[in-house]
Formats: sequence, C-alpha cells, structure tokens
Amino acid sequence: MPRMTDLLLTGGRIIDPASGIDQTGDVLVRNGVVVEISHTKCAADVATVDCEGCIVSPGLLDIHVHLREPDTSGHHEETIATGSAAAVAGGFTTVCCMPNTTPAIDCRTVVQSIQQRTAAVNLARVFAVACGTIGRKGEVVAPILELVESGAIAISDDGDGIADSGVMRRILSLVATADSVFMQHCQDPTLTRGAAMNAGPLATRLGLSGWPREAEELMLRRDLVLNRSIGARYHAQHLSVAESVTALREARAEGQPATGEASPHHLLLTDHECDNWNTLAKVNPPLRSAADIAAIKEGIAEGTITVLATDHAPHPTHTKETDFASAAFGMVGLECALPLYREALIDDGVLDWPAMLAMMTSTPAEVAGLSHLGLGRLEVGGPADLTVIDPDAEWVIDPEAFRSAGRNCPFTGRSVRGRAILSVVGGQIRHQLTGERSTSAIDEKASVR
Ligand SMILES: [Zn+2]
Repeated sequence: MPRMTDLLLTGGRIIDPASGIDQTGDVLVRNGVVVEISHTKCAADVATVDCEGCIVSPGLLDIHVHLREPDTSGHHEETIATGSAAAVAGGFTTVCCMPNTTPAIDCRTVVQSIQQRTAAVNLARVFAVACGTIGRKGEVVAPILELVESGAIAISDDGDGIADSGVMRRILSLVATADSVFMQHCQDPTLTRGAAMNAGPLATRLGLSGWPREAEELMLRRDLVLNRSIGARYHAQHLSVAESVTALREARAEGQPATGEASPHHLLLTDHECDNWNTLAKVNPPLRSAADIAAIKEGIAEGTITVLATDHAPHPTHTKETDFASAAFGMVGLECALPLYREALIDDGVLDWPAMLAMMTSTPAEVAGLSHLGLGRLEVGGPADLTVIDPDAEWVIDPEAFRSAGRNCPFTGRSVRGRAILSVVGGQIRHQLTGERSTSAIDEKASVR
C-alpha cells in the first residue's frame, strides 16, 4: 500500500454536524490536513476515491471501548493492535479505552505505555481513560491531576461504579479542578451481588439472580446530587433504564454539565435475548425491556442523551461457552455499531443521518475534550480524519470476519444496512472496503499525528 498523504474524495454527501454542512461535493486532503471542502469538483492530481452515493463524515469517535491493554493477566481478550484494527474497520478513527485492564490505568506510566503502543500500532487514535481510584478498587482516590496532565482524557472506574459517596465527592472535585470529565458506570454494587440479568419473570424462570433497575438510577441520582455544588463535567455511560433518562433530563434542565450515552444493544435487544441461557446476551448493565428502549430513544430524540458509544467488550469464546451465571459480561461492538445504530435510530425515524452522526462525531469529541484537537469535525486546516459510509450497503454480521480478537456478538447472522467503506486517520487510509474484501492499511513510516 503506497504512502497516501494526498487524497481526493469526490462526489460524496459531505456531512459535518459541527458546522452544519450537508452538501454533495469533494474533500481534498494534503499532508494529513483537510485543505478544501467544495460543492464543486476540486482540481487535484492526487489519489481519488469515488464517493458517489456515500456519506463523507468526520471520522467516527467511540468514547467507550475496552482494548484490554495493558494485560499481564494472560487472558488475551484484545490488544491495542486488534482493537484499533476493529475500530477503523467499523469506521471509528478515534477511540477512548477504559481502565479496567491489568494493571489498571491508575498511574502515569500506564497512560504513557498506552500512548506508546498506540503510536507503534499506528491505526486509530487511542486515548486513555484513567481510573478514579487506585486499582479501580473504589477506595483510595487516584492521582487524578497527574493522570490528566499525562494525557488521560477522562476519569472512570468503568466496569464498576464508585460506590463510596465520600470518595465520589472527592473525585468530582478533582475532576472539576482538572477540567476533565468523569464517566460513571452507574451500578450500586450492593443491589447487584451475583446478579446475571435484568430482574424480572424471565430471570426467575431461568433461575438466575436478577439485576434490579434501581441499581442504575440510584447511583446516577446520587452522583447528580453530589455534583450540584461541584459542577464537574459528568458523563453517564451505557444507560439502560427509563428512570436514568428522566434523572439525566432533570439534571440537564437544572443546568448541570451532565451527559449520557447509549449503546447499540440497549436500543435493539431486550432481556428476552437471554432466554435459553444465551450468554452472548449477558452484558453489564443488562438488557432491559421494550419500554426502556422506547425511553432511551425518546432521550436521544429530545437531546437528553447525546452520545452513541459501543462499550466494545471483547472476551475469549470459552468465557461465554459456560453457564450463564459464570459467563463473562459484555459484547463486541466496534465493527457492527454503525449499521445497528442506523437500524435503531434512522430506520425507526428517531434521527436522520446528520443528527446521528453528530452523536458519533462532534458531541463525543466535546464530551471527551477532544474538540480542541480538531477531532469530530471536518474543517479546512483540521486533521484529515474521515469516514466514508455507504449508507445502504447490505451485509450480514459475521464475527468470524472481525478484526477484533473478540467473537462475542449477539447480532451474529443479522442482516444490516450501512457500512464504513473507508477510514482515514491523519490523511492516511487505515481501512478500505473493496467489494466483499476489505484491507487494513498499515503504513509503518507514517505517524498517527
Ligand atoms: Zn461499564
């Protein structure tokens, strides 16, 4: 694959939610930077990609993924290399990785090791989210100012919520001082001991311990009360119940800098998916009811929930091929999120393409504090991170074809529409789909930034 620093994307529907651009035309990239966005033909003697019938979007951002590095556990669930390949294959040019790794991302050295791995892999931009507490144990507050200074773009103990209110209050204060954002995994652990799926008749029939919906709302509401006097930027991850949408709506109406995120599975699947002890449907927070899906969609339509993430959570097959109670929580998402969001939101009339892409580009960039790097938008002079989407490409989800090391996907065999056909990071083609075959381009000499 030749080094490709100059690139012309012709005839696509250019959508940039940040500036409101929605027009057919050309985008010209030189030396990693967007140099022209034109509704007419750009004249340039460079490599050209015909984008007719496709959408040319700012590179998609996913602010909630698990890349499982560092990993001294030997579980081999994913690496920054395989996770980044999965990201660009799914159209994501930037991802933010969660700190529930081994060791956890709770000190400067680990943040730096992720930056070094990202530069060596050189596929997607990867930003580390660092722990709120040492070892993600929920007890001793991590050196948050130092972590932010070393490049952590957000603070979270994702995988667990911060149960201790006193610890949470200190974390919010430090996050506010650092002008960072706290991303909460809302789960009151005292309500979910041994819980495997949504509490309800199906859990009872399957003989599984139920996960009450209150576990999510309680922690979210507590956080929002604590944050009233602090005013830290606060982001609620993977919302699963209607009551959370209500709580977030109220806090935003009060003027709190609180945001929320949805994930594809909480918009398309209910707890019925867990029937017959289907471990691929086991996820944290659990799949809920059709009424919850409707409430999350309402929250999205009205702008209470402004971020679409994946919570990409790869696990080795053997951790899912076991009994439901002991199976791992989580599912992969990077390589199928785009068409799944299309199905849940565009096909259902909740959003149009520009509104949906805003939730995958400019808004998450703002939440994660990445807008100032020019990420999540398309502008002349800005970094050439672009995703070309064929909105009507029909395909069938097949985890065996994923770049991710994870195969744990409850959407296997689903016919979907919409696919990233080209992912460009800093002017470099990192993924290109040609016909039925796709390739990941790795240019050893090029640098990510
Ligand atoms: Zn989580």
